[in-house]
Amino acid sequence: MNAVDKMSAGEVVKRERPSIINTLLRCLRLRCPVCGEASIVQRPFKIKHHCPSCDTLFMREAGFFVGAILVNVITTDFVILALYILCLAVLGLDYQLIIKILFGAALLFPVAFYHYSWSIWLGFDHLVEGLPKSPT
Ligand SMILES: [Zn+2]
Repeated sequence: MNAVDKMSAGEVVKRERPSIINTLLRCLRLRCPVCGEASIVQRPFKIKHHCPSCDTLFMREAGFFVGAILVNVITTDFVILALYILCLAVLGLDYQLIIKILFGAALLFPVAFYHYSWSIWLGFDHLVEGLPKSPT
């Protein structure tokens, strides 16, 4: 199935619809969601401006990072909920200990998940509207 992209100059080009499975696998490996050749991470807690292999722009307009923060917050909420259910219902731990475990997880998980939240957000954006090429 083909999708249609509108270029900024009004030119319309056809492009292939990206594969969800390929995009998801690239996200899990922290690779460019478009080509899968290069990492999206420049250094810890720093995402590259664009892909060095295919020039896909990772750092789009101001505010684009809010989606990555949203992915991180939602995932952290689900992890905390799952951990709470595991500690209370399965392991039967003391309530005071559960609070300490959940507090620690709520502090550490979003930091550990930072690059993955960016990768998932870039992959989602690639699937929904396609990532633009870097102008440089
Ligand atoms: Zn790429």
